[in-house]
Amino acid sequence: MKYIIEHMEEGFSEWVILEYTQIIKELGKENLILTSLPEATTENDIPKRLLDLGLQWTTKECVDVDDGKVDRSRVCLLDPAATQNLTPSDASDFDYFVFGGILGSHPRVDRTGILREKYGFAGRRLGELQMTTDTAIRTTQKIVENQVKFEDIKFLDYPEIRYNKYESTEMPFRYIVDANGEPILPVGMLELIKHDAEQSIDDLLL
Ligand code: SAM
Repeated sequence: MKYIIEHMEEGFSEWVILEYTQIIKELGKENLILTSLPEATTENDIPKRLLDLGLQWTTKECVDVDDGKVDRSRVCLLDPAATQNLTPSDASDFDYFVFGGILGSHPRVDRTGILREKYGFAGRRLGELQMTTDTAIRTTQKIVENQVKFEDIKFLDYPEIRYNKYESTEMPFRYIVDANGEPILPVGMLELIKHDAEQSIDDLLL
């Protein structure tokens, strides 16, 4: 299986670097590729932390990876607007799973629709709630590689992240939970969320 992220965000925020780092560690560097980076992109534009992990990237579109030999009928777009949920039997129908479309805002902005319309890929949904990119890839991997049904995966919706005695923030996403019932976040993400929250409180106090 190949996992493709059509990188539609501008540049690489710390949030995205932490997500992509976690994804490379979980999938293996040979199974992930970032596509559709802006034409003028050079290695200097890619964060060193990701290059050091062996991140594969290209300015080509997702249909042009593997020397352009991608069979479009074997590509599945992970799309919250699709009508069918991803199932373990989809493993035999698809070789490529494409993610992408900046869904960071809440309620959801349908940027994934750009990919859907452009390529006419088959779409599959991972339930009706928005996931972070690493969660969506982790869920897809469980379903197609480990053959676990979507309804058998344990999720936590909109977890509350407490960053001091008085304040907490609700994450507007669905996460897979670990054995302790805690949401699985990329290494360093909790610290980043807390740091950003403290920063905005400091800004308010100025
Ligand atoms: N960094 C990415 C970019 O540049 O576009 C952002 C990707 S977006 C935050 C998360 C992606 O995971 C979506 O574009 C979609 O492909 C997939 N995804 C998230 N929630 C989903 C759901 N409920 N069903 C299907 N796919 C979902």
